Amino acid sequence: MTLDRRSFLKLLAAGAGAAGLPMIGRTAEIMPKKGRRVVVVGGGYGGSIAAKYIRMRDKTIEVVLIEKNRQFISCPFSQHLFAGYIKDLSSLTIGYDKLAANHGIKMVFDEVTAIDPAAKTVTTKGGSIAYDKLVVSPGVDFRTEEIEGYDAKTEELMPHAWKAGPQTILLRKQLEAMKDGGTVVLTAPLVPFRCPPGPYERAAMIADYLKQSKPKSKVILLDANPDIVSKPTLFRKGWEMYGSMIEYRNSSKVTAVDNKAMSVTIEGVDEVKGDVIAVIPAQRATALMGNAGLIGPDKKWCPIDANTFESTLHKDIHVIGDSSDAGAMPKSGYAANSEAKVCAQNIVAAMNGLELTELSGINTCYSFLSHTEAISIAGVYTVKDGKIVGVPNSGGISKLDYSDAKLEAKYAGSWLKNILTEMST
Ligand SMILES: Cc1cc2nc3c(=O)[nH]c(=O)nc-3n(C[C@H](O)[C@H](O)[C@H](O)COP(=O)(O)OP(=O)(O)OC[C@H]3O[C@@H](n4cnc5c(N)ncnc54)[C@H](O)[C@@H]3O)c2cc1C
Repeated sequence: MTLDRRSFLKLLAAGAGAAGLPMIGRTAEIMPKKGRRVVVVGGGYGGSIAAKYIRMRDKTIEVVLIEKNRQFISCPFSQHLFAGYIKDLSSLTIGYDKLAANHGIKMVFDEVTAIDPAAKTVTTKGGSIAYDKLVVSPGVDFRTEEIEGYDAKTEELMPHAWKAGPQTILLRKQLEAMKDGGTVVLTAPLVPFRCPPGPYERAAMIADYLKQSKPKSKVILLDANPDIVSKPTLFRKGWEMYGSMIEYRNSSKVTAVDNKAMSVTIEGVDEVKGDVIAVIPAQRATALMGNAGLIGPDKKWCPIDANTFESTLHKDIHVIGDSSDAGAMPKSGYAANSEAKVCAQNIVAAMNGLELTELSGINTCYSFLSHTEAISIAGVYTVKDGKIVGVPNSGGISKLDYSDAKLEAKYAGSWLKNILTEMST
C-alpha cells in the first residue's frame, strides 16, 4: 500500500495527537506567539528543569525548549568510562520525548545563534522565536586561545572530554591503545570551571584502569591551582590505593601545547610529554552569551540577580547553570538543577504579579575513587547583601577517615538515577 503526501501528513498528525505528544518541529512551525511564552535555551542540567518547573507551576504559560541535540549525555559519571565501569555512554543518555509529553513543553531541536534582548527574540538556524521571558543554560565554552599552539587538531590529540560525548569515547580509546609503561598527562585549569572535583576524580578513574590493565604506567596531574580545589584530604587519601601511580603537581598552569611532540608546557618553562594527554582549557560562558551582551566585566561569566537569576545586564533574560556567576554555588549539575527551580518559581511569580521567593540553593558533588568508593561535598546556599553565599554550619564533606566511602558510592548512584529521571520525565 502506498500513501499520498496528504494522507501521510494526516497520519503523522493523528499519531502525534494520540500519543499526547506536542508537535516537535522546526522554528517556523511552532510560531507565532499567541499567549505568554517562556523560551528556554539548552536542555541540559539547568534548562530541562527550568522548562519543566515553569509548566508544573503554571500550565497557562507556553514553554518552548530549544536544544541543539536530540539526546543529552550526562557529564556526571561519564568518567566511569575511563575506568571501564561502564562500556559506553548509553546509561548516561536521555531523550526529551517524555519530558515534552508529560509537561506540554514544545521542543525545538535547533541551535540558537543569536539573542536579541531589545526585540525579545532568539534566532535559531531555522528562524526566530519571540519570548516574554528567556532562560538560558547553554553550559560553557573553552578559552583555548589562552593556550599557545592549541588548534582544532588539539581536541582530537589531547581531548578535554569536558562535555560528555565523542571526546569521552576518544579518550577511553587512547587509553586502551597506550602501551603499558606509558604516561598519561592530565591538566586542570584555574578555578572557576565546571565540576571542581572532576579533574581529581579523573586521575583516580584512569589510575584504576591502568592498575588493572597497564600497571607500569603512570598519571601526571598538572593542576593550575595551588592545591586540589575540592576535598583535598579525601582525594589524597583515596589516591593512596593506586600507590605512586598518580603524581600530582600543583601550581602547574598549562600555557602551551605541542600537537606534534605530544607535550604541554607549564608556565612557559617546563615541558611535559605524554603518551596520552587530556587538556582541560579554562572556561567561560558561551559565545552566544557574549554576543548577546550577557557577560559581565570579568569577560567570563554572566552576572545575575541572586534570587531570580535574571541577568543584571538585560531584563527578562535569566541565566542559570555554568554560564551564570552564581557566587558561592559551584558550576555543577546539581547546582544548575537547584538554580533552575528558584528561577522557574520566580519567573512564574513575576508573570502572575506574585511575591518573589528567596533562593535556598543546594549542591552535592560526588566523586568516585574506585568502582565501589566515593566521597562527597555538600553545600546549602542563601543570599546575603545581594550575593549567593554558603549557609554557615551547613553542608560538609565525607568523613576524613574514608570510612563511609562505600556508602557514598551507593548514594551517588541514587543521586544520578534521581536527577536524570527528574530531567527526562
Ligand atoms: C567530567 C565531568 C563530571 C561531572 N560530574 C558532575 C557530578 O558528579 N555532579 C554534578 O552535579 N555536576 C557534575 N559535572 C558538572 C555538570 O555537568 C555541569 O555543571 C552541568 O552540566 C551544567 O549544566 P548547564 O545546564 O549549565 O549545562 P549543560 O548541562 O551542559 O547543558 C547545556 C545544554 O545546552 C545545549 N546548548 C548549548 N548551546 C546551545 C545553543 N546555542 N543552542 C541550543 N542548545 C544549546 C547543549 O547541547 C546542552 O544540552 C561534571 C562535569 C564534567 C565535565
